[in-house]
This record gives sequence, C-alpha cells and structure tokens, in this order.
Amino acid sequence: MKHTPTAPMSTGLAALEAQLAQDLDFLELPAKSWVPERFHDGAPVRDVVVIGAGMCGLAATAKLVLTGITNVVAYDVAPAGLEGPWVTFARMQTLRSPKTLHGPSLGLPQLTFRAWFTAQWGVEAWRALDKIPRGQWMDYLVWYRKVLALPVRNSVRMTGLAPVGDLIAIDIEGAETGRVLARHLVLATGRSGLGGFALPDFLKGIDRAYWAHSADEIDFDALKGKRVAVIGAGASSMDNAATALEAGAGSVDMLIRRKEMPRINKLTGIGSQGVVLGMHHVPDAWKWKFFDYTASTQTPPPRSSTLRVSRHPNARFFLDCGIVAVREDTGSLLVETTQGPMRYDFLIAATGFSNDFNSRSEFAAIAPHIRTWSDGRYTPDMGLLRAGMSDAPDLGPAFEFRERVPGSCPMLAHIHCFNDAAMLTHGKVSGDIPAVSAGADRLVRGIAASLFAEDVETHFANLIAYDTPELLGDEWVDSTPLLQKEAAL
Ligand SMILES: Cc1cc2nc3c(=O)[nH]c(=O)nc-3n(C[C@H](O)[C@H](O)[C@H](O)COP(=O)(O)OP(=O)(O)OC[C@H]3O[C@@H](n4cnc5c(N)ncnc54)[C@H](O)[C@@H]3O)c2cc1C
Repeated sequence: MKHTPTAPMSTGLAALEAQLAQDLDFLELPAKSWVPERFHDGAPVRDVVVIGAGMCGLAATAKLVLTGITNVVAYDVAPAGLEGPWVTFARMQTLRSPKTLHGPSLGLPQLTFRAWFTAQWGVEAWRALDKIPRGQWMDYLVWYRKVLALPVRNSVRMTGLAPVGDLIAIDIEGAETGRVLARHLVLATGRSGLGGFALPDFLKGIDRAYWAHSADEIDFDALKGKRVAVIGAGASSMDNAATALEAGAGSVDMLIRRKEMPRINKLTGIGSQGVVLGMHHVPDAWKWKFFDYTASTQTPPPRSSTLRVSRHPNARFFLDCGIVAVREDTGSLLVETTQGPMRYDFLIAATGFSNDFNSRSEFAAIAPHIRTWSDGRYTPDMGLLRAGMSDAPDLGPAFEFRERVPGSCPMLAHIHCFNDAAMLTHGKVSGDIPAVSAGADRLVRGIAASLFAEDVETHFANLIAYDTPELLGDEWVDSTPLLQKEAAL
C-alpha cells in the first residue's frame, strides 16, 4: 500500500523525534546508570547481553537502557533491517494485528507505530490504513532502534555458552568474533530460536529438492506450473500457498488434517490487561487449561489470507486429509493421505516451530539441564500431556530458566527465555505484538532486582561512603547553650 505524505517525511519524523526526546527528558529517562562496573581477569563484563534484535530483543534492550542498566549489548545474526520474519520468510501482505496495538512502545505514546505513521503520512492516511503492511512494520522497528540509539550489533551469531564463575561466557561469530562475558543473558531468539522447525516424521529422509518448511527461503518462481501441496491450516500455510499461486504455480492443494477449519481466534478474543498481567499468577492447572484449550481449538488463518488463496481457481482445500506417508517416485512426490494417494512436484510444510533445545548447537551446554513442564510442573490431573506444552521450559518470574537437577547448571538462573517458549509459564507477553511491552517490563524488573541483590554489599558500601552533605551546617543555630544559660540562672 502506498501512502501520500502530508508533510515532507523528515519534518514529520523530526518533530516526532523532538517530542519523544522531550518526553524522555520529562520522565528523566534513561534513568541514571546504577549497576557497578565489573571486570573478570581484567576483561570487561556486560551487565546484560541480549541475543536477538527482533521485536522482543529491541523491547528488552530499550527497557534495560531506560531503567539505567546501560552496560548492555544486543547481537543478531541477521543484517541490520532484516531481523525477525517481517521481510524475510513472512509471506503475508499485512500484519494480522490491528494497527492500533501499542507493541514495543513501553508506555511512551511517541514510540508507537501510530505516532511514527501519522508523523509521516498524516491522520487521514492513518484513518485510511486497514492493516499494517509487513514491510512497514519492519521500517518502524528500524526507526525504533535508531531513535532510541539502541546498542545492537548485527551479523553476529551466538554459537555457544559456558559458565565462568558466576558469569556467562557467550561465544560469538561473524562481524564480531570471540567471547563476551555477561552477568545476565536474554534469549530473544524468536519462534524458531529455541529449537527449530517442527517437522512431521513423514518428511524424514525426503530429498530437500522436493519440500521446504514455510520459514525456509523458497524459490517461488521455480514453482511456476508445478503441482504444489501445502500442509497445515494456519496463517503461514495460507501465506505460502498464496505466494506460490501468485508466482504462477500450476495448482496448490491445502492438505488439512482437521475436519473443519478453525474459525475463531479464541485467545485474541478474550485479550485484556487481565490476561496479560494475570496469566502468570494463576495456578499451573489454569495455565495448562487455557493453553491446552487454545492449542486444541487452534488459531484460524486470517480471513484476508484465506481469501488470497481461495480466489485462485487452481487452489483446492482438502479437509480431513491426514498424511500417512510421503515418498519420492519418478521425479515427484507420492503423498499417501487419508483421502487416497496424491502426486505433487513440491510440498511446503507450514507445520510451525518446536522448543527442542537439543536441536540447536549454541544451547548444547544448557539444553540437558533445562527444566521443562514435564519435569514436575505438569501433573496428569491437568489434562492430557500435549507435546509442545509439556516440553515448554519451566521458567521463574523473570523468565529465567530453572535447573532440572538443582546445582547442575547454576548459570541457568541468569539466562532469561524472552521468546515464544515462555508462553505457558508467562502468558503471551514475549512473542506477539500486543503485550511485548508488558513482557519487557516484567523481564527488566526481574533483572534489575537480581542485579541489585547480587551487588547489595557494594550498594551498602556506597551508602556508607556517600558523604555529600545536603545541609552545609549554616542553616540553623544550636540553641543548647541558651538552655544551659537559662538553667544556670
Ligand atoms: C510469519 C509471521 C507473521 C507474524 N505476524 C504477526 C502479527 O501479525 N501479529 C503479531 O502479534 N504477531 C505476529 N507474529 C508473531 C511475532 O510477533 C513474531 O514472531 C515476532 O517476530 C516475534 O519477535 P521476536 O523478537 O520474539 O522474534 P524474531 O522477530 O524472530 O527475532 C529473533 C531474532 O533472533 C535472532 N537470532 C536467533 N538466534 C540467534 C543466534 N544464535 N545469534 C544471534 N541472533 C539470533 C534472529 O536472527 C532474529 O532476528 C508473526 C510471526 C511470524 C513467524
């Protein structure tokens, strides 16, 4: 969607940025830096390292800096402006979310998408805007990072972790290479960041020339004229199917296991500050009940994405169509389904992501020690054990991991899981747009409390050492001699 600027772009943004600067000044933000400097064998130690500079990583970094925890850096393996899914593997035309969401604005009106948009294109364009084009959301995140001057380093991958005393050594590679020491580590690594793609067993061993995951880079032009199948009924399955159709695929079949399309977006429907702030505090059985129910009812694909597929005469929807087996057969794929055999040239698995920490080499040092819900938090009276929930990490109040065996990996207490995998413990505050500011607030309160408690001796010593007088001694006269004089009379 194109927007006609109502004012020259730079003037609008410049005014907004000036207003934001004033608001921050009025609120005395960023707060003064307060964490004592630390060194280890002469090497500087970061207070917090954030891995991932997508939306969650940016919100976390911004909140840390605004809270006066300034010795912070965020690394992202993606080049600047390509973090997260928005302009890489996301294939929807617009966000699903309503345009009015506050997102990562951390309670600052001038940091909202709306402020950024109207500063450049005006109120009329805002009114006319339906949903946010995904590229524009990325542009907004790029501006957010720039206007807050966030300490982000791109093209740097975290490759490993190790404990060094009470610190965490983080191995990095890319534009910067080496080992960084940190007191706390925030994993804002996104949907696939704690595991990877969730892939059905029937794709194991099938040549990658015949299939892709929906979050893979896919050469859609190569699908021109081809018979394509898409597995799944979620947003990504529709977006990938539509992209294939628009690129000239010969046919696209949606293979959907469910008997009916999910049609109601349950959890979004009951969204409120109660859910945002309260979910973390209800008993585990309730958390399980909420997320088990929404996992079973599933989130429907957006209507616009579904219409984007169904408007093509060569798109077909097969419901109640489970896949039994897939094999390569004379240059194509023979797919055995519950509705009979089907033949395709290419298959796209829109099957989502998993929390299998063991599948990511950078987590090798912590993966075996991470306590999950199946390690005791889940009990059979909560309902059926559901994969994807039972393997969710059992997190503490600041999103910190817990050890499966106490004492086996103490650094976990300082590693914060600020991504989608936190949902079962914390509610939806570390993945989607609506409540990411509330999540960042909860995370940073926890880290601040931990940093203060760990340094409590230093803070107390500072208290003792502090000797700047507020009173200079010339503000009053001691009347005791007068009293003594009167008594002597
Ligand atoms: C296709 C798609 C569409 C979505 N649409 C919406 C929507 O409309 N509304 C909504 O509310 N939510 C939506 N979401 C959900 C959510 O908002 C996004 O997933 C969002 O990107 C989450 O932000 P994040 O920071 O957690 O993860 P990401 O944006 O994925 O950022 C994670 C970052 O971590 C980096 N990273 C990972 N591992 C490493 C490593 N080892 N070293 C260095 N860097 C690393 C990655 O490069 C990435 O940039 C969508 C998700 C997807 C996948």
